[in-house]
Amino acid sequence: MLMVELYYLCHEAVVTCNRKNENSRFQKGEVNDMVKAVVGANWGDEGKGKITDMLAQGADIIVRFQGGANAGHTIVNDYGKFALHTLPSGVFYHHTTSIIGNGVALNIPILFQEIQSIVEKGVPMPKILVSDRAQIVMPYHILFDQYEEERLGGKSFGSTKSGIAPFYSDKYAKIGFQVSELFEEELLAEKVERVCEMKNILLQHLYHKPAIDVKQLLETLHQYRDMVAPYVCDVSAYLDKALKEGKTVLLEGQLGTLKDPDHGIYPMVTSSSTLAAYGAIGAGIPPYEIKEIITVCKAYSSAVGAGVFVSEIFGEEADELRRRGGDGGEYGATTGRPRRMGWFDCVASKYGCRMQGTTDVAFTVLDVLGYLDEIPVCVGYEIDGEVTTEFPVTAKLAKAKPVLQNLPGWKCEIRGIRKYEELPENCRNYIEFIEKQIGYPITMISNGPGREDIIYRNKPII
Ligand code: GDP
Repeated sequence: MLMVELYYLCHEAVVTCNRKNENSRFQKGEVNDMVKAVVGANWGDEGKGKITDMLAQGADIIVRFQGGANAGHTIVNDYGKFALHTLPSGVFYHHTTSIIGNGVALNIPILFQEIQSIVEKGVPMPKILVSDRAQIVMPYHILFDQYEEERLGGKSFGSTKSGIAPFYSDKYAKIGFQVSELFEEELLAEKVERVCEMKNILLQHLYHKPAIDVKQLLETLHQYRDMVAPYVCDVSAYLDKALKEGKTVLLEGQLGTLKDPDHGIYPMVTSSSTLAAYGAIGAGIPPYEIKEIITVCKAYSSAVGAGVFVSEIFGEEADELRRRGGDGGEYGATTGRPRRMGWFDCVASKYGCRMQGTTDVAFTVLDVLGYLDEIPVCVGYEIDGEVTTEFPVTAKLAKAKPVLQNLPGWKCEIRGIRKYEELPENCRNYIEFIEKQIGYPITMISNGPGREDIIYRNKPII
């Protein structure tokens, strides 16, 4: 066959395939045989859990690739309302396999409590695999997290005290424990002794706390080994085979771009990368396999923990949005802490989407804004008298003041609407205004916490 003919044949196939994708890519049950990532554009709590749970319907495998039990996803489905911290948001389906990837900070007792709690609520026992390369959150990581926050006092990072920062510090200091090491008794005992020697110096002399009992720790690790044994898997080999068989894989991120240790509001960030690009590493797949990056943006802002939050609002205005927000108020899924509230931030979200490599934006919790006459949107940052729409480094961010623009509200309930054209005009204007500001296509609009509360929209040309 002539090269030119071959080119046109391939080109046509790609165009047809794209057209099919444009029209109904996310519709229920469609088999897409590819890897998609669901990640957050902002500070987390954008509604990734709901979007993952929804997309999991058309997926075979869902992988958590970073983070730990320090943040949670809230999911509402036919079984009830759940706050998941470690389990991927696909555990509610019979047909999916849920994977804890090597990039995760694995808290074994929490994983098991979570499995137990969903099964107790009537969810069928999910199929779970845990990477043999995932590292374990040790009991002393949680203690170090608490002690360090105490030591820092008012200068603390607002940690959830789940041991995440000490865990990742140890991982990169090469004194972490991989799941696979639990099964090498002699090496394990020797390493526990060696690591505790160092930890105990810090515990006793920096924090003035009791030393770790090595024997007791080893016993705890034996319990962990027995708990995790049935699930341990060479995940990268499993995923390689699955992808060759044409399976659809969802990578589920935790938190959002602005909490990324490299590209976020350092040092008020989390300790593992929250970017879709890290999905390849934290799951163990080639980066080129990730074909769709669905970045979740909430229709207003919220944040937990310390750090600059330019579009933040306070007082009664914030209380009202917090009360009405999410599904039953904006309070942390892990800590129950009231979240900090703010208007939609186009500067942070444009950057958040860019760093994720967004192919699609899922715009969530839009229904909540129906009470407002006017909706302020942050369209720029004023820094040293100049207005910018580029998200700055932390030192400059501290000086940023929000430039707000008011958009007219729609003043009605939009839950239950399933077609984009049926949304009130001001609501569509709000969506399209934000889409233009951030420069990425909004193809899904979430107007309620349930799986069915979703409006699909064809990819517009921005
Ligand atoms: P995640 O960490 O990104 O998964 O976010 P959260 O678990 O904090 O989810 C945000 C909250 O909003 C949860 O309580 C969800 O049930 C809820 N939620 C998600 N999408 C929507 C939506 O479109 N409308 C409303 N009202 N609530 C939503």
